[in-house]
Amino acid sequence: MQCIVNRRAQFSASHRYWLPELSAAENNQHFGPCTRAPGHGHNYVLFVSIAGELDEYGMVVNLSDVKQVIKQEVTSQLDFSYLNDIWPEFQQTLPTTENIARVIWQRLASHFPLVNVQLFEHPELWADYQGNGMEAYLTISTHFSAAHRLARPDLSYEENCEIYGKCARPNGHGHNYHLEVTVKGEIDPRTGMIVDLGALNQVISDMVVEPFDHTFLNKDVPYFAEVVPTAENIAFHISNLLQQPVHELGAELHKVKLIESPNNSCEVYCDTNTAKTPREFSGTHSHTGNSLKSAKLEARL
Ligand SMILES: [Zn+2]
Ligand SMILES: [Zn+2]
Repeated sequence: MQCIVNRRAQFSASHRYWLPELSAAENNQHFGPCTRAPGHGHNYVLFVSIAGELDEYGMVVNLSDVKQVIKQEVTSQLDFSYLNDIWPEFQQTLPTTENIARVIWQRLASHFPLVNVQLFEHPELWADYQGNGMEAYLTISTHFSAAHRLARPDLSYEENCEIYGKCARPNGHGHNYHLEVTVKGEIDPRTGMIVDLGALNQVISDMVVEPFDHTFLNKDVPYFAEVVPTAENIAFHISNLLQQPVHELGAELHKVKLIESPNNSCEVYCDTNTAKTPREFSGTHSHTGNSLKSAKLEARL
């Protein structure tokens, strides 16, 4: 019986993004305020995931051993350190979130059968590393507030109420949507980055947050004139909007998670090999450029 266990740890450390082979202007252009001397710090939170069969004691691995090893190999060394100097790996490749996750994996992999190392730089930015060379995942969490109404114009009010419940009420209602965008890419061996974070933030802001925030989605976002703005359809639309711009930044869109409320969220996984589109009520309009593998709805209100 395979099982995954997760262990949390944390450390506080400083770093600075600065490559001596670049000019000050070039460093600034690439890394913005992260270039400032002598550096700045984060309270990092680390999740180490380990998979295996259960032993005779009912455990994948003894978590007190895991705690000791993480402390000895990682947190006791990194806590209150200047990351650029503490490990030789960070002389070659800057200590970005994704690169720290990769190096932590390398330092723990001989101790445990790892399946994921997840590192939060802060609650709205984290990296995942799963042992595949220089490949890593980076997730940005952001939010927007918007109103919507769930109803198909080809159905009667009674029919819409039967399908969508209170969400079909005529004047709409609103949510504070939380959006998590995960991109996948190769860690650059010098900058330590899979993507220009500032540029990625800008794309998400320009394509999604600014056009969606403080709108009535059905009326203010043209796409939802034809598609019922359920959380699932909003997530599909966001993934369509982001796929090409993320590709142009040199990474690939991996997942869009839209959290509509504490009880209701959905995830769309993106894959360039398959094409699948959300269902819409007109039945005649076709969408292009969508390549989505699966959508998982976690819970319904
Ligand atoms: Zn930083
Ligand atoms: Zn709603």
